[in-house]
Amino acid sequence: MERYCNSCGSPLWMEQFKGPADDYCKYCTDENGNLKTRKEILQGCANWLKSWSPDLDEATAIKRAEYYMRSMPEWADK
Ligand SMILES: [Zn+2]
Repeated sequence: MERYCNSCGSPLWMEQFKGPADDYCKYCTDENGNLKTRKEILQGCANWLKSWSPDLDEATAIKRAEYYMRSMPEWADK
């Protein structure tokens, strides 16, 4: 079955996302497979959005990242 990162939705069957943890991609965990904090992932997500839209300002990027993360199983209730 195809699996996605519980934290950010990355496709875990793709080599570039596969990390030490079963339920999270390598961008959402440290080298031991421990999930990063919500804040760290939020910032990473905002940076990712900005890399696609260079005109996006920081506050808007954070807002969109928060909205996006609420659709993830790991962060839905946080
Ligand atoms: Zn992830």
